[in-house]
Amino acid sequence: MKSFEAVQLYFNRAADQLELTDNMRTLLLTAKREVQVQIAIERDNGDLETLIGFRVQHDNSRGPMKGGLRFHPEVDLDEVRSLASLMTWKTAVVNIPYGGAKGGIAVDVRSLSNRELERITRKFVDEIHDIIGPDHDIPAPDMGTNAEVMSWIMNQHNKYHGFNPGVVTGKPVEHYGISGREEATGRGVGILAVKIIGRLGHKLPTTRVAIQGFGNVGSHAAQFLHDADCKVVAISDISGGYFRADGLDIPGAFRYANEHGRCLEGYTEAEKITNEQLLELDVELLIPAALGGVITAENAAKIKAPLIIEAANAPVRPDADDLLAERGVVIVPDILANAGGVTVSYFEWVQNRQYYSWNLDRVRQELERVMSQAFEEVWELSRERNVTLRTAAFMQGISRVGRATVLAGIT
Ligand code: NAD
Repeated sequence: MKSFEAVQLYFNRAADQLELTDNMRTLLLTAKREVQVQIAIERDNGDLETLIGFRVQHDNSRGPMKGGLRFHPEVDLDEVRSLASLMTWKTAVVNIPYGGAKGGIAVDVRSLSNRELERITRKFVDEIHDIIGPDHDIPAPDMGTNAEVMSWIMNQHNKYHGFNPGVVTGKPVEHYGISGREEATGRGVGILAVKIIGRLGHKLPTTRVAIQGFGNVGSHAAQFLHDADCKVVAISDISGGYFRADGLDIPGAFRYANEHGRCLEGYTEAEKITNEQLLELDVELLIPAALGGVITAENAAKIKAPLIIEAANAPVRPDADDLLAERGVVIVPDILANAGGVTVSYFEWVQNRQYYSWNLDRVRQELERVMSQAFEEVWELSRERNVTLRTAAFMQGISRVGRATVLAGIT
């Protein structure tokens, strides 16, 4: 199943509950604008390279469109379209005044020098500067892009439209960024984990956690849950999995990864396992925080965790989602689980517009408030309507976007 089909499937389940007409479904699913541009650059060795860039602007009924920029060889229009639509529902679930967008370039950043990466980024902005902007569409980092790339975007956009740091978020803290943006998504995952563990009647010290992916999201979620007294027994990254039955030393692993190119390769304070084994561990909580599509119809039966929090985008395939739901496995869906990042991006944008900055405590406090409220609303709706948390989250997002669309006047 292609990425956008999966989003459509979840959308339609929620739309059935909301009794939306076919015409309204088509309106809400269709992107406002899809742009494909040519990005021609000169490589450091003088070769000409022509790349394709995409920006999909899905919906702006609740505010300017918001979404990351992914530089990855597998980027295509279908993937960008599905991620743009997910951003619309995500920003609506956490009730921040944004719509949804996503962009990407099909390129392997590992094959580029920093200068080449900068040239590609600036050329992309040359092609799309007219359709992005602080009141229209605000990019942010995603796979393959980082804070430095965001600074280049701001600088290039400002050459056309004048100084305005709010055109992009996820910028370096010392260049109009915000404290706490880096940890935000992982911290949001941790906040939700603590809430739902309590709601399901479990205790934090007896909750064993396995986390796939020890990058930005996974490592901060691990740190938060370690500090909250949970037992993080397994972590992993591209180099494989690391397991310790009595709980890993997460601050130690964090330090190790930072000192070794953000990778756990060679970490010896744990038993080595594979990424597949990690997913199938006997734990109370499983957090996929690396890639999409890792829990499939093939491995769903082997998943022992009764609770999964989708920190990555779309880590559970729809067919696996059904199999797990039948077994009573509770899944906190990506559009709620990883919304902490876009929430703190919103705070960054607010501050850029006010030329003011909050301290880290305030950012954390506001993040906790937004995530907690969204969780309570989705939890209540799922109980009330007897639907999964995923369907409830989609219902919440779709009804907010639908209401705004109708209030603005459709034609
Ligand atoms: P990252 O690049 O910082 O980390 C990714 C991690 O996954 C790394 O530890 C990497 O080694 C690991 N990994 C890569 N390939 C793997 C494999 N085959 N098996 C196991 N591990 C593998 O990325 P991130 O920012 O932490 O994002 C992780 C996921 O969360 C992505 O799906 C991303 O779209 C999603 N997400 C991120 C944010 C954010 O704010 N960073 C927000 C929302 C969603």
